[in-house]
Amino acid sequence: MNSPLRHVRPNILALKPYSTARDEFEGGDISVWLDANESPYENGVNRYPDPHQKQLKAHISRLKGIAENQIFVGGAGSDEAIDLVFRIFCEPGIDNAIAITPSYGVYQVAAATNNVELREVPLAEGYALPTEALLAAGDAHTKLLWICSPNNPTGNAFEISQLEELTDAFGGIVIVDEAYVDFSPKGSMLEVLHRHPNLIVLQTFSKAWGMAGLRLGMAFASPEISALFGRVKYPYNVNGPTQAEVMRRIEMGAASCIKEICEQRQMLAEALPNVSCIEKVFPSDANFFLVKVNNPDKVYAYLMKHGVIVRNRHRVFGCNGCLRLTIGTPEENKRLLKLLNEYK
Ligand SMILES: *Cc1c(COP(=O)(O)O)cnc(C)c1O
Repeated sequence: MNSPLRHVRPNILALKPYSTARDEFEGGDISVWLDANESPYENGVNRYPDPHQKQLKAHISRLKGIAENQIFVGGAGSDEAIDLVFRIFCEPGIDNAIAITPSYGVYQVAAATNNVELREVPLAEGYALPTEALLAAGDAHTKLLWICSPNNPTGNAFEISQLEELTDAFGGIVIVDEAYVDFSPKGSMLEVLHRHPNLIVLQTFSKAWGMAGLRLGMAFASPEISALFGRVKYPYNVNGPTQAEVMRRIEMGAASCIKEICEQRQMLAEALPNVSCIEKVFPSDANFFLVKVNNPDKVYAYLMKHGVIVRNRHRVFGCNGCLRLTIGTPEENKRLLKLLNEYK
């Protein structure tokens, strides 16, 4: 019984997925489509998109080196995959999940929406992975363990070896959210996915790929888990223009600004500690910095008054006094530094 399917809710295992008109069509030489109650008048979007996103998954498969039957794509970003993971594995009111804190706020919202208790375990000193505390937080009803790496809002990535150790030791499903992985020198869990049947890796086109407006998120897992995503997702969950546009941009290699952002990260890592209102700059493996300032609300309001908006994380657990600064263009970063240096 080592299959990850033993963690799945019985109703999900038993469920018969909705069969769309396009599922029942087996292929052939069709020129008249009267099966889906669509408008027959061609306008570019009058037809339903491919519910299985076959071409798009082929593109992602080539890009990531992961088989198509191990890929889920969601048209509401990775946030869609986060909600589906709770729905697939956690019985509302009974099962629970574990997450690190501080981390991405959507795990908390998705847990609450699904009436699942989320047990938050504080990061260790220096925002390190609290492996033992995470393993100790579970009980017989613990199904999920959420790790964000590089972590939002702290910016640091955990070592692959540590994440693998945790995945092997945890008696449930481990989800590693890699929204910022393209910026990280520490590598991706996708390289070891084949070794861990209980692992789900989340990635997105929203950050390094510059497509936040298209809302395309990805989940990679064993074929068994991926098939479950396919069963519970909304049938046409990624719209046609998004599928086409993401394929076009993958072909263009649209993630090409990563190098420039990493160079700007290096520049800021050297410049920010010299700013007098900044007390601490936390190391970043992502496209943002968490910095501790002497008066976060005042610095935040000052930047806003000068047309620069950052994220105030002062009231987030473990981030007392902190602002989160996204790395912008070289000109934007210069402007931010100038403003911070002029702050009194
Ligand atoms: C931005 C972000 C995402 C991505 O969200 P999308 O819904 O794909 O835009 C996921 N996880 C974390 C930690 C993030 O910061």
